[in-house]
Amino acid sequence: MNGIFISKGESLIRLSKPYTDRAEQEAIADVLASGYLSQGKNVSKFESMLAEYVGTKYAFATSSCTTALHLSLVVLGIGPGDEVIVPDFTFPATANVVIQQQAVPILVDIDLDTFTINIEDFSAKITPKTKAVIPVHLFGLSADMSPVLRLAKKHGFAVVEDAACALGAHYKGKKCGALGDMACFSFHPRKSITTGEGGMITTDDDQLAGEIELLRAHGASRTDGRFTFQKAGFNYRLSEIQGAIGIRQMDKLDWILERRRKLADYLSKQLGPFKNLTRPIEPRYARHTFQSYVVLLDQNLNRDKIIKDMAQQGIETTIGTYALHSQPFFSQKYHYQESDIPYSQRAYEGSLTLPLYPTMSENEMAKIIDALYEVINANYKG
Ligand SMILES: *Cc1c(COP(=O)(O)O)cnc(C)c1O
Repeated sequence: MNGIFISKGESLIRLSKPYTDRAEQEAIADVLASGYLSQGKNVSKFESMLAEYVGTKYAFATSSCTTALHLSLVVLGIGPGDEVIVPDFTFPATANVVIQQQAVPILVDIDLDTFTINIEDFSAKITPKTKAVIPVHLFGLSADMSPVLRLAKKHGFAVVEDAACALGAHYKGKKCGALGDMACFSFHPRKSITTGEGGMITTDDDQLAGEIELLRAHGASRTDGRFTFQKAGFNYRLSEIQGAIGIRQMDKLDWILERRRKLADYLSKQLGPFKNLTRPIEPRYARHTFQSYVVLLDQNLNRDKIIKDMAQQGIETTIGTYALHSQPFFSQKYHYQESDIPYSQRAYEGSLTLPLYPTMSENEMAKIIDALYEVINANYKG
């Protein structure tokens, strides 16, 4: 039974908890009873709900955000020798898909206050080989998209939003996912809504849409009830079971987002007096989803020790995300030193994600705040 029960006989407060109820259970049962399990009318409905919500002409469901990102680069024709600009502080999938296409991810630094792409470094790393940029709306906060879009237009390359964390996020009154040439969402259980695994590509572009649809399902088109194979495609489809869950999750999205914002706001107020950490901000241009609530700890604090001590108190916390350049694969392949991308490295070493989920109780919230206060004081070497 090791690992199931924790000290004090209390249950672990988890980092996140997907929010599902009977609606999802019944939807799954209905799909199973129908006998139609692969991409069909449930997936189509989920796609139109999401397209309408985000405000794009098209939305295509995929098996994950990673496959969505990969497919986006494929339809843009990204290949060997091309360069794609990626912020260094992100989940590795954002850069891995570039490498899958034998292109080179050009890693750029972030701003420490927002954890999103640093425009100065981005601008400095544009070359004639740059074919796309993948701005990441990290933790649910939109990247500063106006300068990103301006630079892309000036130099003639594409913008693919990594909106994995950003369903429901806004930038200057527009929804994230409707800003670039394409955008990719994730329905992994840690994101705003979930289908277990799953993703979506949004776009307004008719030609890209046609290519996405073709390549998502084996490169096959159907005429007179028969398939003909036009290209060497993939199978990146979402199942009907996941599509049906997605529909029910879309029904809950407004409530989930509202709860997350309220809880994040409460947490920020309570953390106000803490001297040894920086709270997440919401710039004027943005509306945050708080997919993750991430603080930056003072350099005097050992973040990994804090994670361990919080676990001792029965509270699951984790790092913000990864500085790609200092991960073994990237540092060995592209010969990076840790100091090459300094703000990202600082964020990788000092960021801490606190638990946040829509059904969090007042009691759980109080425990998190009390434990963090105690753990930080015990660890501070000021
Ligand atoms: C979660 C996440 C991904 C990967 O999403 P999957 O659906 O798990 O493939 C990519 N980028 C970012 C920023 C993420 O947070």
